[in-house]
Amino acid sequence: MRREIVMITGASRGIGRAVAFRFAKEGYPIVITCSKSWKELEQTMEELERYSVPVLSFLADAGDYEQMRTIVKEVEKKLGAVGILVNNAGIAKIGLFQDMVYEEYERMIRTNLMSVLNCCHLVVPGMIHKKAGKIINVSSVWGNVGASCEAVYSAAKGGINSFTKALGKELAPSNIQVNAVACGVFDTQMNDCLSKEERAELAESIPAGRFGRAEEAAELIFQLATGHSYMNGQVITLDGAWV
Ligand code: NAD
Repeated sequence: MRREIVMITGASRGIGRAVAFRFAKEGYPIVITCSKSWKELEQTMEELERYSVPVLSFLADAGDYEQMRTIVKEVEKKLGAVGILVNNAGIAKIGLFQDMVYEEYERMIRTNLMSVLNCCHLVVPGMIHKKAGKIINVSSVWGNVGASCEAVYSAAKGGINSFTKALGKELAPSNIQVNAVACGVFDTQMNDCLSKEERAELAESIPAGRFGRAEEAAELIFQLATGHSYMNGQVITLDGAWV
């Protein structure tokens, strides 16, 4: 059976990397991107190739429309149109909004929100042409409820949530499903800034008693991308009953 091409942004590590492995195990052709760490991306690519699937990797800023346009064109030329898009690239920073300078919050919005808009804008025409497609946006519980000291991150993720609901409605007649996963706290390098004590305190505040694992987010994303087509425009929370 021919598998859809899966494109995952921010897949050099963490949740994006786990998503790439989940799909590769099932034989899907994989496209992975990240903005900076070519070494990590290359290593991920080599490990993915052990599953004997086609793998393309690109160093690019998902928030930069022109860079992503070049990538999508090359993917279409080499593999074909993207059938499953996982918008995962993201950055976080803890601090008061008032202490952020313009360049910092502009980058936060560009990386977390504009990246999602860019990639959707670039792959949706191919999906409409095929009258099939799945888009999964990796969001955060802070997009649902807002977090003090992560105000701009919350704004970006809240934007993703609304965009997911709206685009799901817009694309449903074309048989394209757009859903989001609002993650709680996951054990990835994004949380390396936390001290041992802060990690323990945070884990204790989660009813499930622990951080989520990247593989758990990947499993839900895989299920959403390969499951039935009636679920659309939904933001699904995955947080161990935290928020
Ligand atoms: P991570 O820091 O381990 O990985 C982030 C990935 O995004 C990396 O591959 C990085 O290179 C890439 N990236 C960063 N900026 C990019 C850009 N401009 N263009 C392309 N790639 C870029 O973090 P993670 O925890 O795996 O995060 C993945 C997603 O999950 C993010 O969207 C994040 O906001 C979301 N999330 C994470 C948590 C958590 O607790 N870890 C919680 C809620 C939501």
